Amino acid sequence: MGLLVVGSIALDSVITPFGETADALGGAAVFFAMAGAVLHPVQVVGVVGSDFPEAHLKALAARGVDLAGVERQTGESFRWKARYSYDLNSRETLETRLGVFADFRPRIPEQFRKARFVFLGNIDPELQLSVLDQVQDPTLVACDTMNYWIQLKRDVLLELLRHIDILMVNDSEARELSGDWNIYRAARWILSRGPKMAVIKQGEHGALLVDADTTFKVPAYPLQEVFDPTGAGDAFAGGFMAHVARTGDLSFANLRRAMVYGSAMGSLAVEAFGVQRLEQVALPEVRARVRAFRDLVHFALDGEDE
Ligand code: AMP
Repeated sequence: MGLLVVGSIALDSVITPFGETADALGGAAVFFAMAGAVLHPVQVVGVVGSDFPEAHLKALAARGVDLAGVERQTGESFRWKARYSYDLNSRETLETRLGVFADFRPRIPEQFRKARFVFLGNIDPELQLSVLDQVQDPTLVACDTMNYWIQLKRDVLLELLRHIDILMVNDSEARELSGDWNIYRAARWILSRGPKMAVIKQGEHGALLVDADTTFKVPAYPLQEVFDPTGAGDAFAGGFMAHVARTGDLSFANLRRAMVYGSAMGSLAVEAFGVQRLEQVALPEVRARVRAFRDLVHFALDGEDE
């Protein structure tokens, strides 16, 4: 069951209180694919420039990521530079150089068009719609966006919401999109616009899965060391979607498990710079972290057996 991601492939330069990287492998599609590929094969559609190191693509291929949808174009690769605050809770974007990403028009290769699971990474909502025109009847479509598109292309974004199953955004995006500061009401507002579910990522406060009837909350894994929060949300999405693709099970119980796989991958992502940790992690370690989540929240009611 194919799992397709469309999004940025980047050279990231990140400064945190613990160090910095320059032109490291990054981008939303990359974090998604590196995390997802631990659980299920991932197909990537994106663009890189002539300066994009072959070694970065090899690192993805070594994880079993299918790069048939990655075009190399003449020009500079997409570059993004950011600096995190002391507590890692906020960041300042220092530079965004779009390069070849400015003219990115996703072309889904024939062999990816039957993908049953599709993740639309944060790109122009018009391009996200164009991806949906090219895939044949997917079972589950999830989508990310950012404040920039909420402000600049609100109407197109609202049109897109009518065609997706899950909107996966962070809390500030949910608030801005809905115009409501209350996150639970914001989630309901999203559902009223089309998606069956909203996944709201809350950073160190975990994540929420909201559908018409229920709300499920997963905490963030209690890490003692965080090195680089970049890409945590995309790694979350990769873990979530790859778990669903691997099991092919859309029951609510399984989507709850997907939330935990997502949180596990997000927590692994932030333990090292860029994709370094995701590149190395193996399935038994992911499963151990998923079990640790259960222990973290499990309790017995009064009089109940443990
Ligand atoms: P996150 O930490 O989830 O916001 O994701 C950060 C990743 O998104 C980095 O690897 C960046 O290369 C990538 N990124 C930053 N800005 C953009 C943008 N405008 N469009 C697409 N991807 C971006």
